[in-house]
Amino acid sequence: MPATRSGGGPVGGPHLNLAPVRAESDRIFDITVCLRPFRAAGPRIEAERIGDTLIVHNYGHGGSGWSLSWGSGTLAVEMAMEGSPAEVAVLGCGALGLTAATLAQRAGAKVTIYAKDLLPQTRSSRATGSWTPDSRIALTSVAGPSFGDKWERMARISFKTYRQYLGLPGTPVEWRDSYFISDDASDKPEPKPPGALDFARYGDRIADIVPQSARLTPAESPFTAPYVRRGAQMQFNVADYGHTLLTDFLLAGGRIERREFHDAAELATLKQKVVINCPGYAARALWKDESITPVRGQIGWLVPQPELDYGAIYNGIIMLSRRDGIVIQSFEGGDMRGYGDDHEVPDHAEADHAVSVIAGLYQRYWRG
Ligand SMILES: Cc1cc2nc3c(=O)[nH]c(=O)nc-3n(C[C@H](O)[C@H](O)[C@H](O)COP(=O)(O)OP(=O)(O)OC[C@H]3O[C@@H](n4cnc5c(N)ncnc54)[C@H](O)[C@@H]3O)c2cc1C
Repeated sequence: MPATRSGGGPVGGPHLNLAPVRAESDRIFDITVCLRPFRAAGPRIEAERIGDTLIVHNYGHGGSGWSLSWGSGTLAVEMAMEGSPAEVAVLGCGALGLTAATLAQRAGAKVTIYAKDLLPQTRSSRATGSWTPDSRIALTSVAGPSFGDKWERMARISFKTYRQYLGLPGTPVEWRDSYFISDDASDKPEPKPPGALDFARYGDRIADIVPQSARLTPAESPFTAPYVRRGAQMQFNVADYGHTLLTDFLLAGGRIERREFHDAAELATLKQKVVINCPGYAARALWKDESITPVRGQIGWLVPQPELDYGAIYNGIIMLSRRDGIVIQSFEGGDMRGYGDDHEVPDHAEADHAVSVIAGLYQRYWRG
């Protein structure tokens, strides 16, 4: 029986000419660590005044900052542009700052980004780089039902905006196949570990725009495992995508000033009287916002293989073939992995283990 989409019709035929990953520890050329800025209530997107300055907050996007950036930035820029300011300042040059700055330019403002670090040095540059709009974005019990509507608006706007970055030279954004492979033919969802929090899931709300995955028959699958699904995954080649965002911002007349703020009140001393505030995890210190919880995540980077044009998920490890390296990342333990952990030092044993799991996938199930 041919594989079917969850919606019904048949999906593509055999796809057996894929390249395997060279999953060897001595091909790891970097290990990066980053903290997801998680807020149980969802990201903080709201305005406050400090003296005569309007501050529009845009931070706390957990594991979904890249994915939701355009939608979140749209909400923030709507608030920022209410009084039609000629000039807008943006604090932060990560995923959220750069997209908000671009949107403020498109809305007609002259924009200056103030940031301690530019994108390649920010936490955003250490992300996996996939479209994961409801990854550790909120807790269902805390965010409440109205956040679902806001999330859906942000996700739809972002998804549509990413369309503009497909097919460009350098491939900042692209679609690739991703295989989910399981040792267990029944593919039962993992039971929630004791004490696990109720991380919100909203994916069903946008099922009409996002391609769905389908189970493959043994004849269709490049892996001989008992259970294989294939889906299409939008991914961000962060090195090129970040470069594109920065270049476009500067070409449109944007300015960037390297500056560190030590106190939130310092923002009111800027000449711009409207500031979009995108400091990411650093809001915990700068705004004394203890509602932000760090969620540590680590990536081991294997030397890129241009011939490798798909991703895989197996036994708690993600493999994503990006243009700037092959991401090997553990999510063993599910969404609780790294929760409350602000340790940003690389763990070599974790990276080696993740690579060995992917090596095991090819030893066990590769059709070759
Ligand atoms: C391992 C891992 C994988 C991830 N994968 C994905 C993924 O695949 N898809 C996805 O959508 N999301 C992913 N995320 C989440 C995503 O990376 C974050 O949500 C996002 O990076 C947050 O971006 P940001 O712009 O808010 O913050 P940051 O990238 O931290 O940027 C903050 C900016 O503010 C500036 N700043 C901060 N404080 C000050 C100050 N006091 N003075 C001056 N400047 C300041 C910084 O210099 C920087 O420019 C992942 C996260 C992790 C940890």
